[in-house]
Amino acid sequence: MQFNELNLHENLLSGVDAMNYIQMSPIQELTIPIILAGKDLIASAQTGTGKTAAYLIPLLDHIIRSQSNQTSALVLVPTRELAKQIDEQIEGFSYFINATSIAIYGGGKGEEWDQQRKALVHGADIIIATPGRLMAHMNSGEVKFDHIKCLVLDEADKMLDMGFSDDILFILKRLPAKRQNLMFSATMPKKIRDFANKILHNPEEVRLATSKPAEGIDQQFYLANDTQKIPLLVHLLKDADVQSVIIFSSQKAMIDKIIRSLTKLKWDARGISSDNSQEERENVLRDFKNKQYKILVATDVLSRGIDINNLSHVINFDVPRDAEDYIHRIGRTARAETTGTAITFINEKDQYRIRGIEKLLEKEVEKQNITESLGLGPAPEFKSGGEKNGFKKSNSHKNKPKRKFFRPAKKSS
Ligand code: AMP
Repeated sequence: MQFNELNLHENLLSGVDAMNYIQMSPIQELTIPIILAGKDLIASAQTGTGKTAAYLIPLLDHIIRSQSNQTSALVLVPTRELAKQIDEQIEGFSYFINATSIAIYGGGKGEEWDQQRKALVHGADIIIATPGRLMAHMNSGEVKFDHIKCLVLDEADKMLDMGFSDDILFILKRLPAKRQNLMFSATMPKKIRDFANKILHNPEEVRLATSKPAEGIDQQFYLANDTQKIPLLVHLLKDADVQSVIIFSSQKAMIDKIIRSLTKLKWDARGISSDNSQEERENVLRDFKNKQYKILVATDVLSRGIDINNLSHVINFDVPRDAEDYIHRIGRTARAETTGTAITFINEKDQYRIRGIEKLLEKEVEKQNITESLGLGPAPEFKSGGEKNGFKKSNSHKNKPKRKFFRPAKKSS
């Protein structure tokens, strides 16, 4: 279905068209009519599916038709990176209409606080905000949301993982009770459903099946204790023809350790975590996108919503918490018929998460065991078929022929 079949305001349609959006993505086709009809919605959709436009286009259509001067939509997001990306998309769609937006997020300099406060007090049609910073502004007493008609919770699962649920509930209490609520989440664990039950009223539900990874991705899994991971990483990278790689770690403390180990070998690696200032993060991301260095090390939480694709390698230093996250991350390689490599390290504690990934992939993955041959000692045994706390023993990974794990390195002459 195409956007011009939706009966959108013609000036909005011109903006959509100018952004080269012609055909709707599946999530857009399923959700936009529901949102335009003013209903509450809970949708499972990953980054990359077009979920942002799925809610922005109906919001903007409403704004252009209502011609109100008040803030009518609030979008809560987990990270400032996502807030900025959404703000940029609004700018694109709004080229031919009179709609304003502001992104409110923490971590900046003092003068940014003042700019944000002024913008909040004077109002913008759409506010995109991280919950902590918005709450801080609301506590100052000047920010009023009496005219909000629509609330969007984007990447709701990440917001809960980051501990924002109390902040969100605080904010919601200060919004008009009569409003439309839209919730997007990459995953739908019970805690998200419980949270949704507190907020949404008779929501329509849209679940998009997680897409399978592209054929061109070489997925490799290595068993390793935490202490073996850095030497294993160094070994694998040495042999690799790395063009651009993101290494995802679930622990902030590991980011510096990984970077130090790679820098010692004269590899240019840089990192982002919540410890960095906003300006530092932006510089690191911009330089990576511009291919000024090849290795980016990032924490899990920050990695979602970063709009970087076309990687030659993705490395999961730890197994992602959600199987959907795994699929999404490795989808950043092997775009447009190219090939890519996705590497995942599995320690003993994360083994149960592999079962979720295998379920989504609909196949058992080969777990390589090479630490001993690298002189790093034995790797943890993979206990297949295990539940989180009760593994069954299996030696099926042993005695398997070793696979060649990377494309051969290009020799410099
Ligand atoms: P999202 O999942 O919202 O982060 O979107 C992923 C990417 O797809 C972004 O770069 C969007 O600009 C782009 N995109 C989303 N929907 C469409 C569409 N219908 N046509 C073309 N590009 C799209």
